[in-house]
Amino acid sequence: MDTPSSSSATLVNPAASAASTSATASLVEIFSAIQGEGMNIGTRQLFIRFGRCDLRCNFCDSANTWTGQPTCDIEQTAGLRDFVTQPNPVSLEDLVGWVQRLDGDRVHDSISLTGGEPLLHAKFLQRFLPVLREELPLLPIYLETGGHRPDLVESILPLLDSIGMDMKLPSVSGENRWDAHGEFLRLCVDKNVDIFVKAIVSDTTTLDDLDRTGELINAADPNIPLILQPVTPLPKLIKPDYPVPQAPAPEDVLAWQTRLKKVLPQVRVIPQSHKMIGQM
Ligand code: SF4
Repeated sequence: MDTPSSSSATLVNPAASAASTSATASLVEIFSAIQGEGMNIGTRQLFIRFGRCDLRCNFCDSANTWTGQPTCDIEQTAGLRDFVTQPNPVSLEDLVGWVQRLDGDRVHDSISLTGGEPLLHAKFLQRFLPVLREELPLLPIYLETGGHRPDLVESILPLLDSIGMDMKLPSVSGENRWDAHGEFLRLCVDKNVDIFVKAIVSDTTTLDDLDRTGELINAADPNIPLILQPVTPLPKLIKPDYPVPQAPAPEDVLAWQTRLKKVLPQVRVIPQSHKMIGQM
């Protein structure tokens, strides 16, 4: 359903008007939900899902984000899934107005910038996040990222409150980004940004990949929490030539946590809870 733009939502900050000039981004959706992964699990977040990703993980459950889409879905009332469709790209001014409206009941604990890979919109975020801070100063800003674009994160680090960074294990994801992950972690530690690492594990996880994960975190800051997330098997193949990753055996997960806790103090195992409760 196409509807008129909601850019008429209250937006009185002159900084927003100045920043909006030619600032646009390709979105997938905006919605309110219970965070089902990572250190923020169980909290209520306002999700801004950006379009496009430069990785192709074997376990990806957001393949619809890989390329930019002509439209995006904007929830009108927090949690009611009363989406309306808007054309892409969206302006900074429209996006701020939609976020303000969705947070009208002040139910959210934080805003989640997710994707796709939100850092592919770093230039937009440089302009959007300062306006967001002024308009919604009580909402912390949390970034979910593949952790493979240190070149793009640096410019927005001062604008973030926390980061959930994926460590892509080659034996599970099919992606090999070790050097970029190491650089990304170093940057975040240098800038004193609150960060945790999440690694998706499956029946194909190798000990070499787990050891490399422990080494990289240890080299940056051993106190960075690591979350092992057993993969949620996908309902269908997303890569025709690659089998759907399966969940690891429970005894393997226990052994992996034991192994990693010898080098890192904080290693937790947390599955995707939003899928357990049937939430999108
Ligand atoms: S980084 Fe995220 S969105 Fe991109 S392919 Fe991997 S799982 Fe999918």
